[in-house]
Amino acid sequence: MNLLEARDIGYRIDGVTILDAIDFELAAGELVGLIGPNGAGKSSLLRLLTGIVTPARGEVRLAGEPLSRLSPQRRAQSLGYLVQDARAHWPFPVDKVVGLGRLPYQGWWQRDDAADRARVERALELTETLAYRNRIVTTLSGGEQTLVMLARIFAGECSVILADEPVAALDPYHQLHVMEVLRQHAAGERAAVVVLHDLALAARFCDRLYLLSHGRLDCSGAVAEVLTPATIARVYGVDSRVECDAAGVSVTPLARIGNRHP
Ligand code: ADP
Ligand code: MG
Repeated sequence: MNLLEARDIGYRIDGVTILDAIDFELAAGELVGLIGPNGAGKSSLLRLLTGIVTPARGEVRLAGEPLSRLSPQRRAQSLGYLVQDARAHWPFPVDKVVGLGRLPYQGWWQRDDAADRARVERALELTETLAYRNRIVTTLSGGEQTLVMLARIFAGECSVILADEPVAALDPYHQLHVMEVLRQHAAGERAAVVVLHDLALAARFCDRLYLLSHGRLDCSGAVAEVLTPATIARVYGVDSRVECDAAGVSVTPLARIGNRHP
């Protein structure tokens, strides 16, 4: 059974169709990439998959159960959502922010116990944010804050992580680091969905890709099936070099094709 599944999803805002006829599946152990040009509907689809917004048509299921039937607590325990441009808005110490990831497991009367603290510790280690654990989170750089927000999700130990452009503000070291920890997460009974603009990272780390264009699924499948020069030209309006070898697929964008991209 799929961990997460959406069938024939339609989504509208103020009468405008944002997503139409989307089918999506995520199996245990998978790291799936969601790619597509700006405005294609990637963030909207991710929000639908978290249950934050509900589709106008179709249904999202978590381990076979409709999201709409799950309690907010169960959803929060199962699905960890990293929003695009994740930033902290309150001046709390980093380890307190990461500790918020434990809230779905605590009643309002409960305080962190040793197990909660151990999970926060592990999340700080995993994201290499231990060095600023006592810093006030709002004083960190944008990229550092992204890592802290990711640590908060790891502290929550959810089975599915849905991360919206988690590497957009990161340097190459931390881009690789974040992709590696997402890859590690997506094992056993756990899985992850990641929105990416960097096609090279998508090719290198993801098991499968969904390519969105104008609110529809252009194509989906194995990396080598989706990332072809023809699809990249059609959807992104960019000429590219795509090389496939034993190490996998590598993609280099080369030039815009006219100014066809809307
Ligand atoms: P992506 O993440 O792929 O860049 P989004 O899912 O953020 O795309 O947006 C998809 C489309 O929906 C865009 O055209 C965007 O302008 C539109 N959209 C998103 N949110 C709203 C909103 N609250 N009101 C109106 N249009 C929206
Ligand atoms: Mg987006």
